[in-house]
Amino acid sequence: MHLKNRKIAIIGAGLAGLNLARLLSDSAEIVVFEKSDKLGGRIATHHANGFSFDHGAQFFTAKNKVFKTFVKELESQGVVSQWNANFVDLEPSGINSERTWDDEFPHYVGTPAMNSIGQYLAKNIDVRLNQLITGIKKIESRWFVETEQSQSGPFDWVVVTIPAEQAKAILTETASHQMNLKDVIMQPCFALMLAYQKPHFFDWDAAFVSKSILSWVSVNSSKPKRGDHFTVVAMSTNAWAKTNFEQSESSVIEEMLNALTNISNKNLADASYIKLKRWKYANAARQEPVLEMIDESSQLACCGDWCISGRIESAFMSSLTLAKKIEGLMV
Ligand SMILES: Cc1cc2nc3c(=O)[nH]c(=O)nc-3n(C[C@H](O)[C@H](O)[C@H](O)COP(=O)(O)OP(=O)(O)OC[C@H]3O[C@@H](n4cnc5c(N)ncnc54)[C@H](O)[C@@H]3O)c2cc1C
Repeated sequence: MHLKNRKIAIIGAGLAGLNLARLLSDSAEIVVFEKSDKLGGRIATHHANGFSFDHGAQFFTAKNKVFKTFVKELESQGVVSQWNANFVDLEPSGINSERTWDDEFPHYVGTPAMNSIGQYLAKNIDVRLNQLITGIKKIESRWFVETEQSQSGPFDWVVVTIPAEQAKAILTETASHQMNLKDVIMQPCFALMLAYQKPHFFDWDAAFVSKSILSWVSVNSSKPKRGDHFTVVAMSTNAWAKTNFEQSESSVIEEMLNALTNISNKNLADASYIKLKRWKYANAARQEPVLEMIDESSQLACCGDWCISGRIESAFMSSLTLAKKIEGLMV
């Protein structure tokens, strides 16, 4: 069979799904199904009222050589830039340590927003947005993927690149078992987005926070190419989000704003725009050993950050490893 006669369905247009699509697109015809109307998954940007906020992944670093090379490509295309933030370790009693991020260990962000990364990767890929996949089915040895309204296929392979618990929901028990799909607990997180007419000057651009319900605060507008508006993004701890996930929006916003005032010593209530995002599946713990989930005989596989650790680089590495494996099996 000519390789391009092979068809692969990829579920999820986050970094893992889009990178897999890019890597396999010379070897097979690829269709990516994405439930939302956006590309990039948790590498996300919220635009409203002329403001923009990176309300998912905040920045990333690169350790593996192959990921460094990929980041250099993105950098040369203007899709990412280094963020030389004035970074602090912060707690309510004050700053514990500070440093400026620099070339020695670069920290990157998408430009002009984090979602530029997904948009770049999706170029020339057949991505079908607003397609919530509810199940997959094998008919006469080939795969079909299903939404509430329709069925698409046939495909030779299906690869599921969505968080583990969501993957379980769309796979049959037999498929999960054959693929050795692991139970990986993913933790929730709240992201609070704030925009101001007048800037509130902090002594820092980005902070890891301890002894607080907040874990991270950044002046989003201090990232490169973000424009003139002063914007802030604050993240809750996973533990606090877990306990308060069903709380009303107003009470979560109030508590997070109070915590922000507490650590910054500023009254930040004069925001001209406030928005809260609840991430149900934000982060996964590091997996030892790294998870590889593939059923070669039925041509079904899973990948995503949660197979390694809840980071952008992990989503990339997990999809790279799987792409090589599938490519090898298709020869
Ligand atoms: C608040 C927050 C802060 C973070 N901060 C950082 C950070 O600073 N640095 C860092 O490196 N990482 C960070 N991360 C983690 C990083 O975003 C992830 O590791 C990475 O984006 C995961 O990519 P992925 O492709 O594996 O999964 P995802 O990005 O989750 O992609 C999965 C895609 O599948 C789609 N999907 C789900 N179910 C279905 C379905 N049934 N049908 C069709 N489509 C479906 C989803 O909409 C999504 O687009 C953060 C994450 C969050 C949420």
